[in-house]
Amino acid sequence: MARKFSADIIFPVSSPPIKNGVVVTDGEGKILEIASPPNPLSKEEGELEYYQGIIVPGFVNAHCHLELSHLKGAIPEKAGLDEFIMGIESLRAASEDEIISASEKADAEMYSAGIVAVGDISNKNYSFRTKTKSKIFYHTFIELLGFHPSRAEYAFEKGIQLAEELKNKNVSLTMHAPYSASIPLLKRIRKYAEENNSVLTMHNQENADENLLFLNKTGKILKRLEALGIDASFFEPTGKSSLLSVLPHLPGKGKIQLVHNIHTTRDEIDVAMNYNPNLYWCFCPNANLYIENRLPDIKMFYDKKLKITLGTDSLASNHQLSILEEIKTVQKNFPEIKFEEILKWATLNGADLLGITGQFGSIEKGKQPGLINISGVGENHFQVTSHAKAIRLI
Ligand SMILES: [Zn+2]
Repeated sequence: MARKFSADIIFPVSSPPIKNGVVVTDGEGKILEIASPPNPLSKEEGELEYYQGIIVPGFVNAHCHLELSHLKGAIPEKAGLDEFIMGIESLRAASEDEIISASEKADAEMYSAGIVAVGDISNKNYSFRTKTKSKIFYHTFIELLGFHPSRAEYAFEKGIQLAEELKNKNVSLTMHAPYSASIPLLKRIRKYAEENNSVLTMHNQENADENLLFLNKTGKILKRLEALGIDASFFEPTGKSSLLSVLPHLPGKGKIQLVHNIHTTRDEIDVAMNYNPNLYWCFCPNANLYIENRLPDIKMFYDKKLKITLGTDSLASNHQLSILEEIKTVQKNFPEIKFEEILKWATLNGADLLGITGQFGSIEKGKQPGLINISGVGENHFQVTSHAKAIRLI
C-alpha cells in the first residue's frame, strides 16, 4: 500500500528543498511521487505521516571497515596514527566469532541510523556473510597490502581469491595507502581496475609521516616497517609528497576515492585533479579527531567545488558509525559550508562513487533511496543541532 510522508522540509538533494512537501512511496519504499503544497494527492491512498524536522534520502557511508567493529573502544584516543596502527595490529588476534558478532551489531546500528549503502574495506573474509545478508547495500573494497615489490603478485592473487569468495559483483581490488603499496602492486591494481571498470579507494595523507617517507625516507612509518621486519632497503624516496609519488601509477580515468586528506595541499589537489578528474575526496572527521585530533581543511576542498563524500571509518577509531554525527562535526567546525551541500556529500555523492544513483542518493521518482527523518534541526531547518537524531522511516 502507498504511504505518504511529510515534514517541515523535504530535501530531495537532487532538487531544491520543499517546505511541507509530500513524498509518496509504495510499500517497499519506491518513490511514486513528490509534491509541493497545495498538492493534488487526494487520489492516493493512505494517511499522511507527518514528521517534525526534515526528511532526507538514506545516507551513504563512503568509507568504513566493518571487520574492525570488535575494536570499539579498544584503542586510546588522540595518540596519533602510528600508535593507532600498532594498536590495531596487536588487537587483530580476536576470535572469528567475536569479529562476526561485532560486525552484525555494527551493521544493524548503521541501518537504524539511516545508512542505506556503504563503501566497506575488507582485508579478510570475516565480514562477508554479514554484508551479503544485510539490508544495507555494500560495495566491498578488498585492500591489498604489499610494501615490498616481491610481495605484489602474492597480494594480488590473495585479493582475487577473496573477491571470488565474496560471490558479489560489487567488489573492487584496491590499495590501502601509498606507503603500503609497491609500484608493481599499484600497476597490477591499475590494470585490473581498468579492465573491470572498477572504482578504487585509497587512504591518503592521514598523517605527516606518510609524506616524510616519500620526501626523504624518514619518519615513523619507515620505523614501523622496519619494526615489522619489512625490508625497506630497496625504497628510493621521490622527493615528492606521498600522493604525488603514487599518482602516476593510479588510473588516469575512472573513479578513485581518496580518504582523509589531512595533509593534502591546494597545489597537490590541482595536480591530482589534472591527472584524473574523477577523484572523490572522502572525509571521516570524527575518526580524524579520534586518532590525530585534527581535521583536514574541508573548506578548501569545498571552495574548489570537488566531489566530496563522507565516511565513518571503523569503530576502532570512532564512537559510532553514523553519517549524521559526521555531518554535525563538519558543520560545527566549518559553519560557513551550506547544510544542503554537506547533505549532498552524505547521500548523492557517495551513491555516485559507488555507481548506485539509479536507486540511492536522492528522493526522485522511481528510486528507492530510503527516507530518513532528522529531528533537532534548529529554527531554520537548514542546520543540524548537536542533539539532532536520525530515524529511518522506510
Ligand atoms: Zn580507513
